[in-house]
Amino acid sequence: MARRLGIMGGTFDPIHMGHLVAAETARVDVGLDEVVFVPAGDPWQKTDRDVSPAEQRYLMTVLATAANPAFSVSRLEVDRDGPTYTVDTLRAVRDERPGTTLFFITGADAILNILTWKDAEEALQLATFVAATRPGHDLSSLERQGLREHVTVLDIPALAISSSDIRARFAADAAVRYLIPDSVEQFARKHALYAAAAARPGEHLQEVAVGG
Ligand code: ATP
Ligand code: MG
Repeated sequence: MARRLGIMGGTFDPIHMGHLVAAETARVDVGLDEVVFVPAGDPWQKTDRDVSPAEQRYLMTVLATAANPAFSVSRLEVDRDGPTYTVDTLRAVRDERPGTTLFFITGADAILNILTWKDAEEALQLATFVAATRPGHDLSSLERQGLREHVTVLDIPALAISSSDIRARFAADAAVRYLIPDSVEQFARKHALYAAAAARPGEHLQEVAVGG
C-alpha cells in the first residue's frame, strides 16, 4: 500500500499543544505513516506584527516534535523567501516523494482560506484535506461554499490554545507551562522571542492581563 503522509503547515510562532494534538490525532485516526511539519518562511512584506525569524520557528518545531518517531520537520518553506502557497508545497512534496498519498492537516480556521485560494482545484487533486476542530471556529462555511465533501473533518479534544495567546502570555508573564512543550518555553525564553511584545499593544494582551 502507498505510504500515507500528513503535512502540517503553520507559522508555529510558537508551536503549541494544539498543533501537536491535531497532528497526532490525524496520524492515528486517518492512519498516517508520518507527519511532516512545514513551518512557513519569513514574511516578505512587513505584516501587522513581527513574526519570529523562520530559523527560530523551525528550531522550536524540531524541539517540539523530536520525541515522536512519526514526526519530522521540513525546511521546504523556511529556505524560501516570500510566501509559499499550500499548492506549491504540495507539488514539491509530491515531486520529492512520488507514490506517496498526501494529506494536508489544518485547523478549522485555516481550511477555508486554503480552499478559496488560487489553484485550490489542483491542491484538492494533490492531497486529501483534513480539518481539525478548533474552539471558536466552526466548519459551517465549508458547507455553504460547497467544499464540505472535499474535507475530512477530524474531531480533536478541544484546545483553546493559539500562538497569539501564547505570545501574549509570555509578554504578560502569565503561565505558558503545559500549553507548549517545556523545550519550546525554554528556547523562547533563552532567545527572548516574545518578551519584547510587552512594549507593543498585542491583540490578546489585555484579555490575558485582566484574566490572570
Ligand atoms: P496564530 O494565533 O499566530 O495565528 P495559531 O495558533 O493559529 O497561531 P498557526 O501556526 O497559525 O497557529 O496554525 C497552524 C495550523 O494549526 C493551522 O492550520 C491552524 O488552524 C492549526 N491550529 C492551531 N491551533 C490549533 C488548535 N488549538 N486546534 C486545532 N488546530 C489548530
Ligand atoms: Mg493561525
